[in-house]
Amino acid sequence: SRKIVIKIGSNTLAKDDGTISRAFLENLGEDVHQLMREGKQVVIVSSGARIAGVSTIGKWMRKEDINYKQALCAIGQVELMDAYRRVFEKHGIHIGQILYTREDFLEGSRSLNIRNTLFTLAEEGVVPIINENDSVCVDEIKIGDNDTLAAYTANIWNADLLIMLSDIDGIYSKNPKTCEDAKLVELVESIDELRKSIEIGCGNLFGTGGIETKIEAARKVGDYKIPMILSNGKVPHIIEKLKKGEAKGTLFD
Ligand code: ADP
Repeated sequence: SRKIVIKIGSNTLAKDDGTISRAFLENLGEDVHQLMREGKQVVIVSSGARIAGVSTIGKWMRKEDINYKQALCAIGQVELMDAYRRVFEKHGIHIGQILYTREDFLEGSRSLNIRNTLFTLAEEGVVPIINENDSVCVDEIKIGDNDTLAAYTANIWNADLLIMLSDIDGIYSKNPKTCEDAKLVELVESIDELRKSIEIGCGNLFGTGGIETKIEAARKVGDYKIPMILSNGKVPHIIEKLKKGEAKGTLFD
C-alpha cells in the first residue's frame, strides 16, 4: 500500500498525566520518515487538542461549558501542532494543518477542495495533520470523533490503508481493560459477524469514540475496499512492527 492514513487517538498521544507523550511522537516521526523513504505517502489524523489545551493551561477549566471546551481546543491545537512540527522537523519533513467540519465532507465543492489539498500536500512530501475544527463546531453538528474523520479522510483521498492507533492491541471479545479473559480478534472479514461475537465496554478517560466508532470506521472504508488495521500506539515503533508482522492488531480486510 502506498497511501496510508494514520489515526492517532487521545489515549495514544497523551500520557496518563494528560501531557503529550514526546516519546510516542519521536517514535512516530521515525516510523513515518521510514515510510516516506520507501516511497509511501502519509496523512495523519490526530486527536488530542483538548488534552493539550488542558495541560497547557494547567487545570481543567469549567469543562461542562461549551465555550470553555472550544477555548481549550483552540489553545491545545497550537500546542499539538507545535509538538508535531518539532518532531517532523528533525527528519526534514514539513507538516500542514487541516481542520475540518462536518459540512466540509458533505458539500460537493468543499470535499473536492479537501481532496485536492490532500493530494497536493502528499505529492509534495508534506504530511497533512488533520483534526476536527473543535473551536467552531458545537456537539450537535460535529463529526464527533476522529475515527469517523479518519475514515472520511481515507475515502476522500483514496487511501490504500487506514492504520488506527489506540491504547489496546485491537478488538477484543470483551473490554480488555476490565476483563482478563478477553481474546484478541486478529482478522475481521464480516463486521456483522464481529458485532455478534463481541461485547463492547465503555472507553477510556480521554477517548471520545470508543470501539463502536472504530468498527464503524472500518465499515466506512471497507465500502471503498480500503483495509483498516487497529493496533496499539503505546507499543514503541508500532508502525515498523506492524510492517514486519511483529505486532498484534486487528485487521479488517
Ligand atoms: P482512542 O482515544 O484511542 O480513540 P477510545 O478510548 O475511544 O480510544 O477507545 C478504546 C477503548 O475502548 C479501549 O481502551 C478499551 O478500554 C475500550 N473497549 C471497550 N470494549 C472493547 C472491546 N471489545 N475491544 C477492545 N477495546 C474495547
